Amino acid sequence: MIDLHTHSTASDGSLTPTQLIAKALEQNLRYLGLTDHDTTAGLAEAQLAAKNTELEVVNGIELSAKFESRTVHIIGLGIDPENLALQQLIADAQQSRAQRAIEIGRKLEQSGITDAYAATVEMAGTDILGRGHFAQMLVNRGLAKNFKKVFKRYMVRGKPGYVSANWCTMDQAISTIHQAGGAAVLAHPLRYGLSNRQIELLVAAFADCAGDGLEMISGNTSQKEISCVKKLADKHQLSASIGSDFHGPDKPWATLGQLAELPEDCKTVWHQHHLWS
Ligand code: AMP
Ligand code: MN
Ligand code: MN
Ligand code: MN
Repeated sequence: MIDLHTHSTASDGSLTPTQLIAKALEQNLRYLGLTDHDTTAGLAEAQLAAKNTELEVVNGIELSAKFESRTVHIIGLGIDPENLALQQLIADAQQSRAQRAIEIGRKLEQSGITDAYAATVEMAGTDILGRGHFAQMLVNRGLAKNFKKVFKRYMVRGKPGYVSANWCTMDQAISTIHQAGGAAVLAHPLRYGLSNRQIELLVAAFADCAGDGLEMISGNTSQKEISCVKKLADKHQLSASIGSDFHGPDKPWATLGQLAELPEDCKTVWHQHHLWS
């Protein structure tokens, strides 16, 4: 079993890398990609925890990038975490995150949520924050019942806790992943709230930038969605990847390793890029 899109406490997941590996072993996963947002900080711990087990950890990352005025997510798989170009891009992204977090805190304060920034930093134990950390703080204060609701009410475009961030371009994300020896996969192409026409433009631009694959299957992907992404992959000669986007047992919209089957005639990103032997 293969799952190439997961998160740990190195970004906005709720399991430490070690706990994530334990869970992956419980589920009999064979290959696990750890793809934290804009960081490789969890990879060494994950590799150590999987040492001498049946599980192979694929070094990964989920980079935030801009396509036109929107944020998209580019997954790097099989990257060298030490690569200097990658580490520079990560440093820039983390600076953008830190600045955005201060601004999010300010905006939440303005809408009556006291101590928003300091409380979230304290809860998270870091100032490299994602929207998920603010969402957790708001849920903990009882301001919404769950993550979905809190995002809708506070953390999406047009709401009090939304601030746009200064991400790299899609082109930069893909070329940096390549410099670090990895394959670049467009994460969850149908989850950006785009029209069919806009999705087509996004995938065409991704292919133009030498992107390698599309995430064809994530948690709860319907057959209709799979065939939609399959058509896009065939048209632009992109390979296929699969990943749950697991963030932790307390974030139940994505379950680790429980993924639909890929269509039989798919070229997979792991074969095309020799992600494992
Ligand atoms: P960020 O990269 O900090 O802007 O945060 C993006 C992350 O927020 C995603 O990876 C998800 O973990 C989370 N997220 C975004 N939208 C939602 C939503 N509607 N419900 C729950 N989590 C969400
Ligand atoms: Mn996330
Ligand atoms: Mn994502
Ligand atoms: Mn993700």
